[in-house]
Amino acid sequence: MKLGRYEVVRELGKGAMGIVYLAKDPLIGRLVALKTIRPAAHADDDETMEFQQRFIREAQAAGILNHPSIVTVFDIGQDDTTQMNFIAMEYVEGQNLKEALSQGKTLTFEQIGELVAQIAEALDFAHSKGIVHRDVKPANIILVEGSRAKIMDFGIAKIASGGANLTTTGQFLGTPNYMAPEQIKGTPVDGRTDIFSLGICLYESLTRRKPFGGESLTSISYKIVHEPFPPLHEINPQIPDGFEEVVANCLAKEPAKRYQRGRELASALRAVLRGERPSKMEPLLAEATITTRDRSKLPTIEMPFPDAAGGGGPDGGASTRAAAASSAPTPGQAPRATVAGGPAVVRQFRQTLTNVRAYPLWRRPVPAALAAGVVGVLMLALLWSMVSIQRQRVTVPKVNVQVERQRARERALRQEGSDLLRQGRTADAYAKFEQLAKLAPNSPGVSVMLQKLAAIRYQEEVGKQQIATARQKLDRGIALYNQKKYAEAVPLLDEAFALNPTDAQAANYLRLAQLEEQKAITARLAARARTVLPTEPATTTAPISPGDSRPVSNVPAQLTTIFNSPFSDGVLTIRIGGEMVVNEALWEEKGRFIRRKSPRGISLTREIPPRNTDVFISVVVPTLRVNSQQSFRFNFVPGTAHRLVITYNAASKTIDHQIN
Ligand code: ATP
Ligand code: MG
Repeated sequence: MKLGRYEVVRELGKGAMGIVYLAKDPLIGRLVALKTIRPAAHADDDETMEFQQRFIREAQAAGILNHPSIVTVFDIGQDDTTQMNFIAMEYVEGQNLKEALSQGKTLTFEQIGELVAQIAEALDFAHSKGIVHRDVKPANIILVEGSRAKIMDFGIAKIASGGANLTTTGQFLGTPNYMAPEQIKGTPVDGRTDIFSLGICLYESLTRRKPFGGESLTSISYKIVHEPFPPLHEINPQIPDGFEEVVANCLAKEPAKRYQRGRELASALRAVLRGERPSKMEPLLAEATITTRDRSKLPTIEMPFPDAAGGGGPDGGASTRAAAASSAPTPGQAPRATVAGGPAVVRQFRQTLTNVRAYPLWRRPVPAALAAGVVGVLMLALLWSMVSIQRQRVTVPKVNVQVERQRARERALRQEGSDLLRQGRTADAYAKFEQLAKLAPNSPGVSVMLQKLAAIRYQEEVGKQQIATARQKLDRGIALYNQKKYAEAVPLLDEAFALNPTDAQAANYLRLAQLEEQKAITARLAARARTVLPTEPATTTAPISPGDSRPVSNVPAQLTTIFNSPFSDGVLTIRIGGEMVVNEALWEEKGRFIRRKSPRGISLTREIPPRNTDVFISVVVPTLRVNSQQSFRFNFVPGTAHRLVITYNAASKTIDHQIN
């Protein structure tokens, strides 16, 4: 059989609330005692739920108790199939005190004193944690080998009863034999209640009698509340004197007259064992009294007590068994803890129990100071949050309609101007930005834009003029070309091309005119050669390349022109002896997607007829207004490689040259 994850080994015994099993925890292989607890029969849903909550709460409370003389609670659980609640606790091998007493086991006064002192210390420990046992009795005290004792079932009574000492069905949970007067009366219990019950255990262990015996529940209860206990020495004169006083201090009817703490009882017992007089210390402060969470006001159960002597009556059966158990326990007899009261008593209990319910947590009275504190803190928090919300509130500036309207107009003008500029309509864009400057005269952005636009407009203007001039020159150059006046046409076409290098017509006419002029020059040279009267003889005897069969004077010279142009615009022209030798744009178009003009290095080699002649170099860059010329005379030696390096001086906007 299994209960939860625990494997049941065997039954250890039966109690009022269920069976106790020896079981094994398969997770860690340890033996445990499993105490099953069944809720009251016929309980309705609310009661069952309340029971569950109480069960968990009390077991958790007991679970925090870790003391050598307290049986440790390991776990709680509910079996899935049977819905049985159980508590898994330390399995203690030993005999409980009830069995030991009923079997007539010999216990010396010293052993009894020591065992009860240990339990008193254990109770003191539990009380200091705010936990009251509520059911201290010999069946809950286990004697371990040697002379050690352990107490078990902390809080179990409360789990089953819900705070009253009776089950909701009007049955005593356990016998009233070990109850304190306040339990019988239903007034709040505290640690001193346990001290009373332990006092009865001590009395019974010493005398083998119960101090408040009776034949019925009601007579026992009456005696507990009202009657003194029979003195120890009357029962057994051998009991050491000190015990009398200790028992009296435990069994005082009023809790305030008892030992206030378990450790007081323990030290009194040990004093007795040492042969000293036990001294009962008055608590120095009222607070020295153990207060527990059980001090909440419960309605007092007013019990009508019949005469103790007249205990038969209708409740005879069960109560007689209880009385018999208390007065003369016999081996093998199991004086069941649960004693069903006779019908009359049950009826009385039922009547009184209607109001006996533990208040749920939320209905318990809260101390005024605590309530005031909580309310105060809440008020402060509210105040603080209101202040911080106020602080965070942003002041919305008032909208000045006039200003906003002007800003909108400015935005529109800026947008229109930018669009026009993108379309290349510089003049229109300029007009828009001029309007914008009037609206926002202090805006640095607008004035910068106007400056840029003015520069562009100027460039455009210059460009237009240049193109117009270029056109005029081209027209005149074409006219001269058509008149076959190539020598005159070439400089005009050259200029037209320089002013507008993008003009393909100018470039074509220039090339054609140069060719025609070249032909004319060659023809002239040939004619002169025939007359053997060279007008411009070569003066040097430069080396002639091998294999060149031409006469020395006719072998052309070579001229390599080098100009590392810094310009993205313009034209380099070189005329030698009036003949256009070089006519090169200083830029090239670059860029895969966006074509743009960028500078290009020039390195050109041309064959030059050998002679001593004029060299004219011209660099024209319209956008930078560069127009620089150099002219000099140079002797081109037949078959010689000459080198012309042109440089540009940006400061003076002029060109320079070196030739060799
Ligand atoms: P009550 O129900 O009023 O407490 P009870 O104490 O006689 O009465 P249980 O506490 O249910 O009954 O115990 C039943 C039996 O199981 C007892 O003989 C007890 O000694 C034994 N027992 C209980 N807990 C343990 C434990 N942790 N280790 C060993 N034996 C135990
Ligand atoms: Mg028990």
